[in-house]
Amino acid sequence: MTTTSEVLLPAGEGLSWLRQTSVDQARVLVAGCGALGNEVLKNLVLSGIRHIVVIDFDRVEPSNLTRSILFRQQDAALRRLKVETVAERLRQINPALQLLPLYGDVAHDVGLGLLRRMDVAIGCVDNRLARYALNRLCMRAGIPWVDGGISRLEGTARVFRPGENCYACNLGPEGLNDLARRMPCAGTIRRNETAHRAPTTSLIASIIGAVQVQEALKLLQPDTLASGETVSLCGKMFHYDGQYLTTRLVEFRAYDDECPVHEPWWPVQPSSITPATSIGEALRLLGQQLGTTDLSLLLDDDCFVDGVERMTDGRYIPLQLPGREVAAFIDRHPDLRGTPLQALRQHEYHRIDRQFPYPALTLARLGIPPGDVLHITDNRREWFVEMDMTDYTAFCTR
Ligand SMILES: [Zn+2]
Repeated sequence: MTTTSEVLLPAGEGLSWLRQTSVDQARVLVAGCGALGNEVLKNLVLSGIRHIVVIDFDRVEPSNLTRSILFRQQDAALRRLKVETVAERLRQINPALQLLPLYGDVAHDVGLGLLRRMDVAIGCVDNRLARYALNRLCMRAGIPWVDGGISRLEGTARVFRPGENCYACNLGPEGLNDLARRMPCAGTIRRNETAHRAPTTSLIASIIGAVQVQEALKLLQPDTLASGETVSLCGKMFHYDGQYLTTRLVEFRAYDDECPVHEPWWPVQPSSITPATSIGEALRLLGQQLGTTDLSLLLDDDCFVDGVERMTDGRYIPLQLPGREVAAFIDRHPDLRGTPLQALRQHEYHRIDRQFPYPALTLARLGIPPGDVLHITDNRREWFVEMDMTDYTAFCTR
């Protein structure tokens, strides 16, 4: 039987180095559905990629329309979710497409289990925190990722591969410290970094988005990279200057043995735990599975905030929220709104064990997304336990 994708997308034509099986089997995650994300998604689907996970937390706005091929006026009028909108439009290009839209933030809302089932990720995000988070996920999952950045008439593309090149290592100690202070787990209440949105055009997004997809397609065939048939951008940065029509390749490689960010999370064992499992039950199941009762669940990337204390009058306001949600909660709270964050002390947990006072709360309340990998320790050993992946079975089975 001839599938629609075969009719629309003739195999291998014009891309002699690209095997159809690599394309058919490939699973690609795209983070961000802005100008760059639109171009990347369009290129992926036109290249014949059929399994795509896309994550974004934004809605379509009128200002997006001049630089986003997949959005229409009515999407902006209805303020539709970008992930839903791109899913609908991409299925019109290829009805055989299996696209999983995730509404959320790449820093917190994608389970590592899902990343582990991807072959490559493509970053179409516009700030360092999101790049740092995507890099951390990809390095833990052991998959490469392709970063793109656009601004006015300039654009860049970079490739990061576990064992070779890491975004965090390239930031250097100062950049890393600065970023670490902005993390929700840094011990203080942080407002979300508002991304500096430089005006961009669809033209620069077209160029950089095309380079990103070309690099991603190369990464899908590690054997052709190893044999030298294709050459990866990994270790270099592609820079395009639209003002002077120049392109440059500059050295961009760092992989420091001491870097805690690019540690692979391996080996991983499966479990039946879901975000709806209570903390008490999860600790019991994990204890059974791992053969120890004295275990802690480590919240490496965020913390659980029990409450905040107002320093001026000692008033305690219970929250029971992930650290990343605290600033927004304070902004909404009638008594706290406008209080400088420095005037509030945060009571937080970085590890969850038998002493945790709220065992009836669910893992979701700790901010743990579906399909995540739990980092467990008994202070001597550590384990990585993947949560239930049933919801993704259809998508992840090759
Ligand atoms: Zn690193």
